[in-house]
Amino acid sequence: MNTHGPWDVIVAGLGAAGASAVHALAERGARVLGLDRHAPPHALGSSHGRSRIIREAYFEDPRYVPLVQHAYTRWRALEQASGAALLRETGGLMIGPPDGTLVRGALASARQHGLPHELLSVREVMARVPAFRLPDHHTAVLEPRAGMLDPERAIAATLAEARRLGAHIATGQPVLAWTAEHHGVSVTTPAGRHRAGRLVLALGPWMAGPLLRGVLPLAVERNVLHWFSPVEVTGAFDPARFPVFLHEFEPGRFWYGFPDTGDGVKVALHGGGTPADVESLPRAVQEAEVLHMKHLLARHLPQAAGPLREALVCPYTNTPDGHFVLDHHPDHEGVILASPCSGHGFKFAPAVGELIADLALDRPSPFDRSLFAAKRFARA
Ligand SMILES: Cc1cc2nc3c(=O)[nH]c(=O)nc-3n(C[C@H](O)[C@H](O)[C@H](O)COP(=O)(O)OP(=O)(O)OC[C@H]3O[C@@H](n4cnc5c(N)ncnc54)[C@H](O)[C@@H]3O)c2cc1C
Repeated sequence: MNTHGPWDVIVAGLGAAGASAVHALAERGARVLGLDRHAPPHALGSSHGRSRIIREAYFEDPRYVPLVQHAYTRWRALEQASGAALLRETGGLMIGPPDGTLVRGALASARQHGLPHELLSVREVMARVPAFRLPDHHTAVLEPRAGMLDPERAIAATLAEARRLGAHIATGQPVLAWTAEHHGVSVTTPAGRHRAGRLVLALGPWMAGPLLRGVLPLAVERNVLHWFSPVEVTGAFDPARFPVFLHEFEPGRFWYGFPDTGDGVKVALHGGGTPADVESLPRAVQEAEVLHMKHLLARHLPQAAGPLREALVCPYTNTPDGHFVLDHHPDHEGVILASPCSGHGFKFAPAVGELIADLALDRPSPFDRSLFAAKRFARA
């Protein structure tokens, strides 16, 4: 196939956001070329680590709820189409002080959207999930539909479906430069120049790099994922008995975790990582980072504080307000910016892919995009 176009849309970056955009564009009948510098799924961006939380009672803002509800439907449809198991509903506990950001926000979303949920005292949490040790003044919102997604499998399935629908995918093809022209865009890769009506930039942490330098106030943050073996084999962390959780352990400080699906209990801090540059991201995990996590486990999940099995670095790409950017480039209508990260974007991927596809094809979208406008960071 001639990869030089003309294409309706070129999507640069095929992580969670770009792969889903390519898929949605192909579903809409567009001629689409997806380019990635690596070969997704891979462990060099922000979409690796074998699990991601999906939750519905969205503490960050109730406006995310319709988007995540649509994503649930689309994840299930992708499972059907691909035959891959992607989403496991384990239930989810949002734990913290009753007036904290997490519990207050999750409750507000649940109530506003009439979502199934229970408000539990820590005594009730520990009766149902005995592995937890929690301070008396904490409380929890239990949402039954929360669970975990498999990010690598999801991206592989999304790209396979996109190809099946006619998308052209080229990996090992870094976008070196792009220019917005009168009637479209031109994209340079080592294979040459490609022309298209529209360009979607979905570069994950590379959105903060030279292809877009200065356009958005994005900050890359280095985060660490840890897998620990339970102290004894009791089944306490089996997915049937242990839900995904997010815990505001100190005001404004969060950690989260997953049940043991065979490779240990996975836990990590949400936020609070060190500022980083994706090109020179330190990949080695420090002993102090592991000790800090072991300390949290000893306090709150002592039975999971066994030997460390694995630790991986994975960067967040943060906006100043923690909400995504899904919008036209402020200076070039033909270029669409997709930065759905700030550490919480994976669960939305298929819905975000549709939103991006509709933007790129000038179609109306059923979703409220006001939260994701690039203009909110208008340059002085
Ligand atoms: C540690 C961690 C934990 C998280 N936990 C959760 C969670 O529990 N639940 C949740 O919903 N979300 C979570 N997130 C957020 C979510 O994983 C990310 O928002 C999402 O995976 C980002 O996808 P992306 O496509 O924007 O970026 P990426 O997956 O990084 O994809 C960007 C792609 O662009 C490619 N690329 C870069 N530059 C170029 C170029 N010049 N040319 C061509 N290709 C290029 C890269 O190779 C890469 O494949 C977490 C994120 C991290 C890091």
